[in-house]
Amino acid sequence: YSTVHVIGGGLAGTEAAWQLASAGIPVVFSEMRPVRSSPAHHTAELAELVCSNSFGAKESDRAAGLLHEELRRLNSIIIQKADQHAVPAGGALAVDRAIFSRELTETLASHPLIEFRREEVTEIPTDSIVVLTTGPLTSPALAQDLQRFTGMDYLSFFDAASPIVTGDSINQDIAFLASRYDKGEAAYLNCPFTKEQYLDFLHELCIAEQAELKDFERETAKFFEACLPIEELARRGEDTMRYGPLKPVGLSDARYTGQRPYAVVQLRQEDKAGQLWNMVGFQTNLKWGEQKRIFSMIPGLENAEFVRMGVMHRNTFINSPQLLSPSLQFKTCPTLLAAGQLVGTEGYTAAAAGGWLAGTNAARLILGLEPLTLPVTTMMGSLFEFISSASVKHFQPMPPNFGILPSFDAKIRSKRERYQAYRDRSLADLETWKTQLKQPCLT
Ligand code: FAD
Repeated sequence: YSTVHVIGGGLAGTEAAWQLASAGIPVVFSEMRPVRSSPAHHTAELAELVCSNSFGAKESDRAAGLLHEELRRLNSIIIQKADQHAVPAGGALAVDRAIFSRELTETLASHPLIEFRREEVTEIPTDSIVVLTTGPLTSPALAQDLQRFTGMDYLSFFDAASPIVTGDSINQDIAFLASRYDKGEAAYLNCPFTKEQYLDFLHELCIAEQAELKDFERETAKFFEACLPIEELARRGEDTMRYGPLKPVGLSDARYTGQRPYAVVQLRQEDKAGQLWNMVGFQTNLKWGEQKRIFSMIPGLENAEFVRMGVMHRNTFINSPQLLSPSLQFKTCPTLLAAGQLVGTEGYTAAAAGGWLAGTNAARLILGLEPLTLPVTTMMGSLFEFISSASVKHFQPMPPNFGILPSFDAKIRSKRERYQAYRDRSLADLETWKTQLKQPCLT
């Protein structure tokens, strides 16, 4: 192969195409807009920011900020242009979206090694190395072909994800470890309610503020009858949650009363290290502030640190733990790579990070070099390690967060100091990694 076909000109595809062209590799770059649009995009520009104009917190001791800094050190064009066109936004890196996307479009379209095509790709090409970056709203025809390629069970069209909290922040004087009817090993952290606590919680859920759904998301909501939002269950009757995800049967809190609690919220371990816990059955359309307020009423979660909030929206993503290696190559077809929302990372910056790695590795394949993986102590490395090794059965998209980084042997109590230590380790390891690479990392 001598060229790489990048499909999808969003955040991930734009970064991938740029890294390839910068490494001297000819790129065919296909973007379907404006020939065909998605339900969320409004322009024909590359790297359109479909909603907020913010890339998240700026400070490098915050998860998003650390990812920005790693990408800066790897010469990401997305972060370079974001920095260049930043607008005042307090602690966040926000951009003038029109100038940001227009300039990226002009820069990539005028690159002599990039053949920019305005076309919808409907089948995965087999005549070149391919980087797939078609995002959460991949066109139906290509999604169908991807489903053929991956197998029915390994492509999702909807994201009904429950919030995830860090294990450290769960009050384990209240939450107890057990499996229902003591079957198998004790696998769940269980948060027990008294009747009074349950009724207060139910009341708040019933009056909570919902996020506004877009038209195409309202359509999507119809598909969720088998997987109702927790607030909808609450509204269906006083006991509906107690016969559903909050059922207490088979769970007794032996430490205190030996009695069955009135209701129980269960949390399931999300990562191998047990740093992240998923609230079972808590998919929701509540606004994020409301989720934090109301879910913190759950006994044991008073001080919970949420690394991902619950969502229910249209989102095309593959089952990366089954299909991908941490280099973002398909295990069964290493010349096919993927990045962005399609592989189950969440957010603009994470998409750019995936685009950087997939583009760099596609270039390395052409040059006969070994594909790269990043140190797992970096935010980028830990994100790609997470999506390629999480549970196949329960896989849901993940944003960058400190809970996925390997923890330190000695506990650092202060959250601020812990995050600063993660940041220092990550940036030091990234620099060592860059100098140890026998070849430059093609940036
Ligand atoms: P995208 O940026 O969506 O890029 C994919 C590109 O592929 C698009 O340009 C699309 O036109 C093109 N494409 C699709 N199919 C084909 C095809 N067959 N052939 C050729 N081209 C194709 N994230 C945030 O960080 N902040 C937010 O505020 C935010 N709001 C969101 C709101 C909505 C409604 C949605 C759906 C998502 C939102 N996201 C948000 C998530 C967001 O999609 C990602 O963060 C980011 O856009 C992902 O980048 P990507 O490159 O994977 O996908």
